[in-house]
Amino acid sequence: MPTQLLVATTNAGKLRDFRVAAAAHAAAFCIDFLPDIDTIPDAPEEGATFAANACGKAIYYSYIAPGCIVLADDSGLEVTALQGAPGIRSARYATDAGFRPDLPVDAANNLLLLEKMRDAPANSRVARYRCVLAAAINGSILASAEGTVGGEILREPRGAGGFGYDPIFYLPTFQRTMAELDLKTKHTISHRGHALRALLSLLETQT
Ligand code: IMP
Repeated sequence: MPTQLLVATTNAGKLRDFRVAAAAHAAAFCIDFLPDIDTIPDAPEEGATFAANACGKAIYYSYIAPGCIVLADDSGLEVTALQGAPGIRSARYATDAGFRPDLPVDAANNLLLLEKMRDAPANSRVARYRCVLAAAINGSILASAEGTVGGEILREPRGAGGFGYDPIFYLPTFQRTMAELDLKTKHTISHRGHALRALLSLLETQT
């Protein structure tokens, strides 16, 4: 009988990512979504690191579903030339700066990042996505794992897939942006896919 894992997210892009990335572990785990998460106040995200935020969220949401294993993640984009920004503020990068509140959040974030990187030469546009995923039950952390994927920040958006910064995150190996990759490839190489597979392997030894 597969062990049930409840994913705590309201982000449709992440939700889709988890479904695809966990397919190989279907015999051991069934992944469902934490019921009614959109009716629960958001978990506080006050940590200074992805790990602190992921663990804080997993613990918080585990109280909503007593006795169940709850997964939560924190992820974002780190740009070397910007000293790791937007980092843990990735989702709120433009909002924090009061930049283009008239635009949808992802579009404003991408535009702000392109502006900040306008003068960065080709050899200093290195970036990486990072994801930390944590599993908790009844307020205690069971395991956590991290995944990363490296790339470069383009000068203009390309591609219609993905979400967030994907249209400006370029993967030299594939000569495509993350928004131009098919979903299966994205999940094989993505920070979230790596973190999820590492976490599921850890949980397999514990459950
Ligand atoms: P979180 O919901 O606090 O983890 O914030 C994640 C934010 O980082 C998202 O809103 C995106 O802006 C960015 N991000 C994280 N993972 C991805 C990805 O796979 N593609 C594009 N943007 C991402």
